[in-house]
Amino acid sequence: MRLVSPLLKRAIYPALHHSGWLARVPPPGGYAVVNYHGVVPDDYSADDTFLDGNLVQPEAFRQQLQFLKAHYHVIHPEDFRAWIEQGKRLPARAILLTCDDGLVNNLTDMLPVLRSESVACLFFVTAASCGDDPGMLWYEELYHLMRIKPLSGSDLHLLTEAGADSALAESLQAQWWRTLRSASQLDAGTRADWMRRVRNHCGLPQGFRYESRSARRWRLLNIAELKRLAEAGMSVGAHTLTHPVLSLCSDEEARWEIQGSKTELERVLGKPVWAFAYPFGNPATMGEREFRLARAAGFSCAFLNVEHWRGEQSNPFALLRTHVTLDMTLPEFTAHLSGVHNRLQRAVAG
Ligand SMILES: [Zn+2]
Repeated sequence: MRLVSPLLKRAIYPALHHSGWLARVPPPGGYAVVNYHGVVPDDYSADDTFLDGNLVQPEAFRQQLQFLKAHYHVIHPEDFRAWIEQGKRLPARAILLTCDDGLVNNLTDMLPVLRSESVACLFFVTAASCGDDPGMLWYEELYHLMRIKPLSGSDLHLLTEAGADSALAESLQAQWWRTLRSASQLDAGTRADWMRRVRNHCGLPQGFRYESRSARRWRLLNIAELKRLAEAGMSVGAHTLTHPVLSLCSDEEARWEIQGSKTELERVLGKPVWAFAYPFGNPATMGEREFRLARAAGFSCAFLNVEHWRGEQSNPFALLRTHVTLDMTLPEFTAHLSGVHNRLQRAVAG
């Protein structure tokens, strides 16, 4: 979780932003990668906003794109590929737009804004979007199911790590995250069986009914929708088969998740898939083994979801990204792109 002190957010970044200074600071390394997860659709009625923090409001999204166009050089993902694969030069202050997970709002709500601003984005999707009935992200459905009925005390309770005894005192969010980590250790088939039992346990054998709370918010792209995104000039990258915490998978499972997503997407799209994004993409969920597996799978590069990684600056399999969140103001966004936020955070952390 990101730590932004109220002083930075409310006073220092706005002052630096409005003076124009932040927008003039070049991104570290000459370019920056911005990462979204989708926009909040206008038909969405939230009854719990915990998971919504990864999205952005459509107006904020448009404002950010217009800001980027005015102060940076928003490149096409295929220009980024030419830089990575052939060493072609990037323009100064290049910005690459990316978006993870493949929610259907990427097509219905994000694409119209991208098109009207004449920019392209690299969308990272899972193998769920290679089929006709993708459903929703399993760990987001799990959160909704755990809200309906706690898993504690049932045979579905996966928590065996230290601290499980105090699960009752834990927040739902903390229990959910630990359960998600435990479920990531199951192979994909066993995890799907377990999710079926969780649905039954909650009295929802068909799963969480997201339609009533907006399918555009929760459902993943199906194959026809993914192809429409690609036909609109957007690029598509891989994001594993089932979005587990990779660092908790066995060697064999992690290799299958990474390699399999490339093979499956190339089969349905009929063209090479050159980029990969690690699910969750932070140091708690992945590491050097995953860098090696992404390289061995034949990707040209792979993206994290953090702005700093143990001194790595130029590893194409550990590319840094700015993760845009719902509560991020434009001054804060600028502070992240310029690298100023990251430098301040590290200076404070010593
Ligand atoms: Zn993801």
